[in-house]
Amino acid sequence: MFTEAEGKSLLSAFGIDTPRGIEIAVGQMISDDIREPLVVKAISSTLVHKSDAGGVRVGVRRDEIDEVAARMGEQLAAAGHRLEGLLVEEMVPSGHEVIVGAVRAPGLGWTVMVGLGGVLVEVFEDVAFGLAPLANDQILDMLHELRGMKVLDGARGGEKADIPALVTLISRLAGPNGLLHSLPDDVIEIDLNPVIVSGTRAVAVDARFVVG
Ligand code: ADP
Ligand code: MG
Repeated sequence: MFTEAEGKSLLSAFGIDTPRGIEIAVGQMISDDIREPLVVKAISSTLVHKSDAGGVRVGVRRDEIDEVAARMGEQLAAAGHRLEGLLVEEMVPSGHEVIVGAVRAPGLGWTVMVGLGGVLVEVFEDVAFGLAPLANDQILDMLHELRGMKVLDGARGGEKADIPALVTLISRLAGPNGLLHSLPDDVIEIDLNPVIVSGTRAVAVDARFVVG
């Protein structure tokens, strides 16, 4: 299993934008180059969906980290997990939450999935699939298959998402020279949930690499 921070440094090695952040022990200070507002995330080897167990707090100030950590430790303990450390990162300005995932099928290679985060994926199962390696026009076709594409395009007064930045992110993951093709064989699944796509950026704010 990769930690979230390890997964994110791999993503950034392939040019995929991730929030600036640092792993610290509880009680440790963070360096000045990490700007508020912050997001504090639990590091715990048994925890998969951090927010389900109270393991994510957004909009935190530097001087609140210890207090947030204490509360997080209690909440995790109540859910049967141990708080092993913290990932403290910069909070990315809001945007559309997009899910990008990939699953390795033996003999077939990687199947890539894209969908709009939140209710659109969970309730309406509005997702599109493709087989890596994906060319940019195939990635764009997948996005246009989504019913929610109108939302990304700024329907109903929402912000218009930077679609080229999202295509570039997916290409750096699943394109011909993308990260997927450089991973060791034991990595069987990747979830970037969510990628926050604003008018100017597409940033992977969560990364899960599953080792089989
Ligand atoms: P989980 O393990 O629960 O999926 P995430 O890392 O995805 O944890 O965080 C939960 C939610 O918090 C995300 O869906 C996103 O809305 C928000 N979030 C997480 N990290 C950031 C960040 N760096 N900037 C802004 N929002 C974030
Ligand atoms: Mg997540």
